[in-house]
Amino acid sequence: MKFKYFCEQCNKSYDIIPDVYLCPNCQNLSPDTPIKGVLDVKLEGKIDTNFEVVDLLPISKQFRPSIPVGNTPLWSPHRLANLLGLNNVYIKNDDLNPTGSLKDRASYLVAGFAKEHGINEIVLASTGNAASSMAGVAASLGIKATIFLPKTAPEAKLIQIVQYGAKCILVDGNYDMAYDLSLEYSKKFSGINRNTGYNPLTIEGKKTISLEIYKQLNCKLPEYVFVSAGDGVILSGVYKGFEDLMHLGLTKKIPTIFAIQAEKSAALFNALNSGTFKRISSQTVADSISVDNPRNGYHALNKIKKYNGKIITVSDDEILLAQQQLSANSGIFSEPAGSTAFAGLLKVKNQLEKNSLIVVISTGNGLKDIVSARKKITIPTKAISSIDEI
Ligand SMILES: *Cc1c(COP(=O)(O)O)cnc(C)c1O
Repeated sequence: MKFKYFCEQCNKSYDIIPDVYLCPNCQNLSPDTPIKGVLDVKLEGKIDTNFEVVDLLPISKQFRPSIPVGNTPLWSPHRLANLLGLNNVYIKNDDLNPTGSLKDRASYLVAGFAKEHGINEIVLASTGNAASSMAGVAASLGIKATIFLPKTAPEAKLIQIVQYGAKCILVDGNYDMAYDLSLEYSKKFSGINRNTGYNPLTIEGKKTISLEIYKQLNCKLPEYVFVSAGDGVILSGVYKGFEDLMHLGLTKKIPTIFAIQAEKSAALFNALNSGTFKRISSQTVADSISVDNPRNGYHALNKIKKYNGKIITVSDDEILLAQQQLSANSGIFSEPAGSTAFAGLLKVKNQLEKNSLIVVISTGNGLKDIVSARKKITIPTKAISSIDEI
């Protein structure tokens, strides 16, 4: 398999080397609009249906990290199917990655790439899962992870980062400030930057989820895939996996993707409807998809338009209710941003054929944010000392 970076805007190709992030011709990094010049990985080669997913990643075999990322279960909880009145609903449970979120797929590729190029430091800005993921995967390889985190970041995720031994730099400002400082730092000290969207390997790593879904369905495509969206990198990654399958001649179409956003953090949804991106002041319980300026907005929206995907929004109430219903009917405790995809399915289920093949992606583990889950449940307050008190 041969790999190159490719810019869809100007049709130029570039070698996949550490100093290349955005297309030098088309790049624009403004804090108020999505990134311009996001690169895709283009691959050339031949595979058959027995392919190994990792063979489609642009790193050599000997540099693949040994930490077991991906290969998460795809299964059909029958009680959930009954609840929905749908016959073929599968959950792709990416909570079961080593650090508890789908972000591990990107960290895996970036870390392997760093090793292959002899680079021993990875730098990023994040509000949570990308940081804890990079810290964990880097720990498995002995790579230094340097993380710029807004000082308001959720405590559980902060603890995870420090627990993995990463260097955590708190920023007296928001995510945008952390983003800019991390870029400045990696330019100065020559580590690899893993900022979401900016580093094209973040999209490329996340594509493995679609390749796995195809294989787990015995080389069939789902008709619908539900996934939550903030910056839109997972969304682009999901598309990229299905694009690779088509490009390599294994499939003939792209499933209909439903991207689900929180009502008050819906920059992609707004841009699809209004035609332009406007910076918003996002507010949602689903902290992993709370985004003012979706960094990968142009790239993700282009895919949605190209393949006739859908973007819908759900309220925080719908997210928390979906989170609880998913847990109580399947045993999967997904964080709010992870349950957002399921909330989307609950919202549109009546528009879908009963026998449609549907995959819902759960992107992160509920234990990462117990404060939100607690809002919709009642915890007992009275303790007993004899059985008669029940
Ligand atoms: C990062 C993340 C998302 C959203 O991914 P984007 O690429 O920002 O759209 C959704 N759910 C979880 C759990 C995440 O960590």
